[in-house]
Amino acid sequence: MEPFDLVVKGNIVLPDKVMNGAIGISKGKITHITDQQNGLVSKNVKDFNGSFIFPGFIDTHVHCYSNPDEGVAATSEAAAFGGVTTFFDMPYDRPDPINNVKIFEKKIQRLEGKTVVDICLWGTIAKKNGTDQIIPMAKAGAVAFKLSTFETDPYRFPRIPDPEILKAMKIIKEVNLRAAFHSENGEVIYQMIEEYQKKGKVYPRAHMETRPPVTETSAILKLLEFAYWTGAKLHIVHVSHPRSIELIQLFKKQGVQVTCETCYHYLLLDVHDLEEQGPRAKMNPPVREPEDVQKMWEKLEGNQIDMITSDHAPWSLEQKIKGKDNIFKSPSGLPGVELLIPLMFDGGVMSGRLTPVQFAHLLATHPAEAYQVPGKGKITIGYDADLTIIDPSKQTIIDEMKLHSQAKLTPFNQKKLRGKIIETIIRGNTVFDGTKITADMNYGKFVPGSAAE
Ligand SMILES: [Zn+2]
Repeated sequence: MEPFDLVVKGNIVLPDKVMNGAIGISKGKITHITDQQNGLVSKNVKDFNGSFIFPGFIDTHVHCYSNPDEGVAATSEAAAFGGVTTFFDMPYDRPDPINNVKIFEKKIQRLEGKTVVDICLWGTIAKKNGTDQIIPMAKAGAVAFKLSTFETDPYRFPRIPDPEILKAMKIIKEVNLRAAFHSENGEVIYQMIEEYQKKGKVYPRAHMETRPPVTETSAILKLLEFAYWTGAKLHIVHVSHPRSIELIQLFKKQGVQVTCETCYHYLLLDVHDLEEQGPRAKMNPPVREPEDVQKMWEKLEGNQIDMITSDHAPWSLEQKIKGKDNIFKSPSGLPGVELLIPLMFDGGVMSGRLTPVQFAHLLATHPAEAYQVPGKGKITIGYDADLTIIDPSKQTIIDEMKLHSQAKLTPFNQKKLRGKIIETIIRGNTVFDGTKITADMNYGKFVPGSAAE
């Protein structure tokens, strides 16, 4: 056997079991996996015994340009620190959303020299007459398309009218990509917010009260039915409520190709955190009642949720604090790409609710499979040597001031977590060594989607 460029030893989290052994890596790929500790030859051997070697984690829901002060470099460093080896950047950029092929290609160029991790890019469409850009963007490498039933901004983050959604789904099906949706019923929400504001009901909890579960579930139900009739592959982003999962399961059983994600905050926070922390715990959809959170965990443990994402939205504290006295004035969203893995490892694996194998499925394998990202998402021969090492005997203490995003805030500040990310490896090279970034900012690559030409 030829010597390997790198050999990594430890508790390897394979697709079906955890195995103590060694991985041989050559030219950035996994070329050998063995349950023997010795026998693989390399000048570069990393011994992680006592730690888990996970497939590099994939966060499919990151908005690095929704705050122009953030940009891709800070987000990509935050990702490397957080054990995320590939993230998907959302299309709702400022000033222009990624809704045509020219803007899409410009965004690929903008990543050059600015990322240490690998990146896939989402596309979207304009509110009207935008569907003709879907195929060109797919050919240029869009990994999937994100649309919304809720209007955050009429240009940048519009609500797409139903006829345009149906048209888009048919075209997205032609290129065999996935159509993902922010699913909330804006008509109900906007009217409720207006009524609440008129009555001066602007306390933090009002954010949840004006977005009751029916606003999420009814929007999802429509999309499921659209997917049933068009045959398009559907994905529902940031599901906050167990009823939504039940609807998704119902349609899955009928053959609809639907996947879904929840976010760490819908598993680790509830409405009491919104009451206590106000804008710091404000995101769309909102956090829910404790009993709903409990049911979300049950769905997760029962493998009814495909993946967990961060919905990283890097608003600064200054911007968030605008909602101090009126929750509706605070922008929605939290930074999270750096905290997703540490928080979920503590809350999921260390608490005994998820096995390491389930954890790898939710945060690496399923995202890669759902979006057909070639060569990523699991530890198997021929795949990219993207690995995240977690030492379960060490501790992580969250310090919001030390986050690598420009947004220095989290509702989990000062929380002590069991487990620590001690190394992040991408294509066989260490990008984070447990204390600092160890690769150049031109190391990360744009990873084109499966319809790219
Ligand atoms: Zn989002």
